[in-house]
Amino acid sequence: MAEISSLEEFREQTAAFIARAVDSGDACPAYGAILPPHLHQQAMHWQRFCFNEGWAGVHWPVEHGGMGLSPRHNIVWHEECAISEVAPYLNLQGIVLAGEAILRSGTDQQRERFLRPTLSNEILWCQLFSEPGAGSDLAGLQTSAVRDGDHFILNGQKVWSSNAQFAQYGILMARTDSEQPKHKGITFFLLDMELAGIEVRPIKQMTGDSEFCEVFFTDVLLPADCVLGEVNAGWGVAMAVLQDERGGAGAAGVISLRRRLETMVEKAGAVDSVGSEEVVRILNRGKALQSLMERRGGDPLIAPIAKLMNSELGYDEAQLDSLLQGSESMLNSASTDNLLYSPGMSIAGGSSEIQRNIIGERILGLPREPEIAG
Ligand SMILES: Cc1cc2nc3c(=O)[nH]c(=O)nc-3n(C[C@H](O)[C@H](O)[C@H](O)COP(=O)(O)OP(=O)(O)OC[C@H]3O[C@@H](n4cnc5c(N)ncnc54)[C@H](O)[C@@H]3O)c2cc1C
Repeated sequence: MAEISSLEEFREQTAAFIARAVDSGDACPAYGAILPPHLHQQAMHWQRFCFNEGWAGVHWPVEHGGMGLSPRHNIVWHEECAISEVAPYLNLQGIVLAGEAILRSGTDQQRERFLRPTLSNEILWCQLFSEPGAGSDLAGLQTSAVRDGDHFILNGQKVWSSNAQFAQYGILMARTDSEQPKHKGITFFLLDMELAGIEVRPIKQMTGDSEFCEVFFTDVLLPADCVLGEVNAGWGVAMAVLQDERGGAGAAGVISLRRRLETMVEKAGAVDSVGSEEVVRILNRGKALQSLMERRGGDPLIAPIAKLMNSELGYDEAQLDSLLQGSESMLNSASTDNLLYSPGMSIAGGSSEIQRNIIGERILGLPREPEIAG
């Protein structure tokens, strides 16, 4: 790749790189945070293609296979992908959640071991946080990892683990000290999914796809060098990961939102006055979100507000779209998929109720909700 000096030059070169890849059939269409099974092969190819062409890990260090550019350059990459409607990465769980966590908290050996293969697609990651009894209240997790010499012995169950059926590694939270208060005594691990005693069972969703899984651990022998950060200090590592997850699409999100709003305006011309009133209502909410992201997109305080507005808007958009299409939307079309998929977005990455709690307590300064003992 040619020497890059400015953001504008980078934008031009990125747009040209993506356009070539779209023409040659190497690019994969955009699909959001979770890799859908039907695009698995195409997405793996696209990630490898970007890596081979020197166009992966824009702001990651060169020694780990990245381009060594700034986070601003990375935003440009995401914006250009959004403009061309191609996937900016293989999956969020790997390139953003695991990758950034290893960059922040990994040892030199862990960076060396994991970063380059993550960019080249040799390692696809999943996120093993949620459990049947611990989703919103993540600190209540029960999966245990008990120290035994150079190893930990892992037992328990995770659920909603997106892409676990394809993953070679998972970022895992497990309880390593049950005597400590619940936010303490949790350790963050980089788990090899090939280890004996791990069973992955895909869950069929109402879309017909199986994007997420249940994962069971029975006496899994975890080497101690797969701890990320310090033993019993995993809560802090995980909170930074959740911040990355909720921070979401940023400026690139604004671009796809703008495209959706334009489509909605076109539709408004073709519907009756009741329908167009609904379109205008959604359009206004979309414009408000767009302005917020443009003004404050990089501010971590905005993450729960943007997450809440975006997922609820997506749900209402899908409902309206199906209303406008009539019975067609109940058949097998893109809007059927959208209609069935959209409710999940107000749960994934923290539910809407939890975002409202965060906004109330941390942004508006309202009293904290009462802690339930235990
Ligand atoms: C599409 C999708 C992909 C996902 N991918 C992953 C993944 O890859 N890895 C992973 O670890 N997890 C994943 N999840 C799980 C997700 O993080 C959890 O579903 C989410 O955090 C909610 O937890 P829960 O399902 O246990 O619901 P619960 O926590 O049991 O909540 C049930 C209901 O109670 C409400 N509620 C709970 N507590 C409160 C409260 N204090 N105040 C008000 N209301 C409350 C919730 O809002 C919800 O409506 C995914 C989920 C979805 C939908």
